[in-house]
Amino acid sequence: MPDYEHLTVGVLALQGAFREHAIALEKCGATARKIRRRRDLAGLDALIIPGGESTTIGKLMVSYHLLDEIKGIGAEGLPIFGTCAGLVMLARELVEGDQPLLGLMDITVRRNAFGRQVKSFEAALEIPALGAEGPSGIPAGGGQPHGPFPGIFIRAPWIESAGAGVEVLAEYDGHAIAARQDKMLVTAFHPELTDDLRLHELFLQIMGGSDPAKT
Ligand code: GLN
Repeated sequence: MPDYEHLTVGVLALQGAFREHAIALEKCGATARKIRRRRDLAGLDALIIPGGESTTIGKLMVSYHLLDEIKGIGAEGLPIFGTCAGLVMLARELVEGDQPLLGLMDITVRRNAFGRQVKSFEAALEIPALGAEGPSGIPAGGGQPHGPFPGIFIRAPWIESAGAGVEVLAEYDGHAIAARQDKMLVTAFHPELTDDLRLHELFLQIMGGSDPAKT
């Protein structure tokens, strides 16, 4: 795996699965910093917004004065990876409901899209951007898994529609569930709840400038 030691990635740590993201980043060799206050954002190379409950995360971001701040640094180009509720937070618009959003990505999102009965499930996902052996072409950590990505969906959203600048990276059941726009990456599922580091590594490559899509 390439050397990511020089990269400090913030993980928004207000609510949800932030510990698991920090562990995944450190397994990749990057430095993870939990973000709870505005001052924690200083000098970050990138940010992850975890899964959890986007209504709660949004309200907490407003009360901790983080929403406008992150909106600002995101608009200036800070790379951001949003998973599940993090994908919802990055959306420009929701199909239903009104809640604080960052609105940084040109996507319209349906929350809890996979229905009430099927609240959580796992699916093997084809994600061509990961390549057969991960984005670097090198099995990471002494044997990174290859092939389909294990998608864990928990009351997951999907991307209902996306603007021209958005590249859909994966679909499930005909719905977009992973995408990128410039240095922003989103997944409707939870890569941090698996041992598969390929999506975290893809993000580190996108943010570090060694972008697999552009080589
Ligand atoms: N349904 C949640 C929301 O809309 C997301 C669930 C999750 O992050 N696992 O915020």
